[in-house]
Amino acid sequence: MFIFEQIMIQIHRFTFNPFQENTYVLFDESNECAIVDPGCSNTSEQQQLVQFISGRQLKPVLLLDTHCHIDHILGNKFVYDTYKLSPQIHQKDLVILQNGMRTAQLYQLNYAESPLPVKFIEEGDIVSFGNSQLEVLFTPGHSPGSIIFYNRVQKFAISGDVLFRESIGRTDFPGCNHNDLISSIKNKLFLLDDATVVYSGHGPETSIGYEKENNPFL
Ligand SMILES: [Zn+2]
Repeated sequence: MFIFEQIMIQIHRFTFNPFQENTYVLFDESNECAIVDPGCSNTSEQQQLVQFISGRQLKPVLLLDTHCHIDHILGNKFVYDTYKLSPQIHQKDLVILQNGMRTAQLYQLNYAESPLPVKFIEEGDIVSFGNSQLEVLFTPGHSPGSIIFYNRVQKFAISGDVLFRESIGRTDFPGCNHNDLISSIKNKLFLLDDATVVYSGHGPETSIGYEKENNPFL
């Protein structure tokens, strides 16, 4: 008789801040969790995040940013203060993180300055929580240091603002590069299995196969 312990990542999505940004909490049977792109911008959104984590008795062990645009990092400081986690980012987005306060003022957002990373992550790195692992894919274009967190076993990717359902990331900000974005999607994301579910930084989830067929920008 074989007994298989089920290893399964669950993904919870919050939609926070005036940009309707998706914040994800990933957790598994160990109850350790990763917080990806915390966009909480006020006390109510901070409480939603904390109540979910404490309600499920989760232990946050990773703070990950797919990229450092302001809507994705608004809650970095709160997560740092609450769970003592520093953000892990790609080094090429450090300058964007460092410009966060200026950007927040431009958009008149209430922003507590993010702590700086103590660790950078890049293509090929593996980040772990509990019994689970995520591969880091480097997918520049929407920002110079955009990365994706990919789980090969369960076939999903946390894609940040690289790919959306029937859309792609904007490339009209400083540091964006449209050709890089298209190349990241076609040469990285579209090499993943068609069944891979894509959890985007804005809007609903999609899949690689669906976007190959239906994305009008590709
Ligand atoms: Zn962005």
